[in-house]
Amino acid sequence: MKIYNTLSRTKEEFVPNVEGKVSMYTCGPTVYHYAHIGNLRSYIMEDVLEKYFRFTGYDVTRVMNITDVGHLTSDGDTGDDKMLKGAKREHKTVMEIAQFYTDAFFADCVKLNIKKPDVVEPATGCIDDFIKVISSLMEKGFAYEAGGNIYFDTSKLKQYYVFNDFKEEDLAVGVREGVEEDTNKRNKADFVLWFTKSKFDDQELKWDSPWGVGYPGWHIECSCISMKHLGEYLDIHCGGIDNAFPHHTNEIAQSEAYIGHKWCNYWFHILHLNTNSGKMSKSSGEFLTVSLLESKGYNPLVYRFFCLLSHYRKSLVFSYENLDNAAVSYNKITAKIGSILKETQGEIDKAAYDKLMSAFTEALDNDLNTALAITALHDVLRADTTPATKIALIREFDKVLSLNLIETAEKLTAEPEAEELPQEILDLAEQRKAARKEKNFALADELRDKITALGYIVEETRQGTKITKK
Ligand code: AMP
Ligand code: ZN
Repeated sequence: MKIYNTLSRTKEEFVPNVEGKVSMYTCGPTVYHYAHIGNLRSYIMEDVLEKYFRFTGYDVTRVMNITDVGHLTSDGDTGDDKMLKGAKREHKTVMEIAQFYTDAFFADCVKLNIKKPDVVEPATGCIDDFIKVISSLMEKGFAYEAGGNIYFDTSKLKQYYVFNDFKEEDLAVGVREGVEEDTNKRNKADFVLWFTKSKFDDQELKWDSPWGVGYPGWHIECSCISMKHLGEYLDIHCGGIDNAFPHHTNEIAQSEAYIGHKWCNYWFHILHLNTNSGKMSKSSGEFLTVSLLESKGYNPLVYRFFCLLSHYRKSLVFSYENLDNAAVSYNKITAKIGSILKETQGEIDKAAYDKLMSAFTEALDNDLNTALAITALHDVLRADTTPATKIALIREFDKVLSLNLIETAEKLTAEPEAEELPQEILDLAEQRKAARKEKNFALADELRDKITALGYIVEETRQGTKITKK
């Protein structure tokens, strides 16, 4: 399988550190509010990646953090603490907010068929791990204390900007946002590992540390939680593209300074979901959540399908019109599968199966091209092969796509169509049923012909007799 690696800016053959095993880390949500459907685009595409690894036979261990402390509204270590902002907004404690939105996040994941990672670790549960790593960085001379905070010294690295050609001036983020620059930093790119001098007097969550009572920076959380569960050699790290800088850049800086060698081989970044008016937002415009889509009558899996129709490395524009188009297509696919389920299944045609399967795996092997994988699904529906072959393929594809294709189709076919039939047809069907019971097959056939002559199709399925309008 080839994957685009942000680190090398090329598509590379994916080769894990240990044969047959994949260690995968995902930046989890900051649980100060509901996830918007942009956040969830990232989690959907990461879910497809994880499932495809498993599909191809890898034993995957996936770890995700929950950011419940330390994430400031500006990535330049300025701005408000997002969790504190959420708590103030809702007149609750930070931990109440964290619990509520963690639960809400996983409830959305269930609706979108996003598998829960093997390990989910809230940052507030790992304070000792952060302190251990920060202490070591201090000892090794990669970190310094200034104005009460502990900073990572980026000038100690051979290369800090690993993903791109950022210039020092680009880091004047805080200044551009009208927030004062942190004058404690020795270099503009330095970032906080541990805060003791919080700008927020009411910072709720604080812990003892060798540098005073305080709380961790956001970046150190992911490094430590990843290394805690997945060790010093990580195969793949995922997140939305906004995380590449500074978050992932800082993760690499501190992790590699700590372990003294290369940490993660592949960096998988998902481009953003935007609206026609621009960036997806939790505070302005329509706050697009899964619940909002549901309240408007959309099946959350139609949103998942909508995401799969585009490559993860292209930004995607959300509009209700686009979502409606995806819904039409999803409904057509499941209706078609429903009609295939009703046909006499026959045997699996091995040659056809292999050919159609390889179109699917080729698509995903090429940098997770889900759009082409959906084309491969359409090709299965159209293919000149037995229904058994098609259903077997769709079942396999759906282990990765997770669109409930067969379940939805079965529900469609199980709907009581008989109730919509005219009384005359229902009576004939009843008489035919009685004739069959009495083994009077001549009469049964005669009654079937009468029903057919009136414009209806009679079929015997595993669920019993089905009568549909021609
Ligand atoms: P957060 O809860 O802000 O920490 O973000 C959770 C995940 O969503 C991260 O991987 C972000 O990079 C990602 N993300 C944020 N905004 C978007 C967006 N508009 N589209 C796709 N992913 C996003
Ligand atoms: Zn992270």
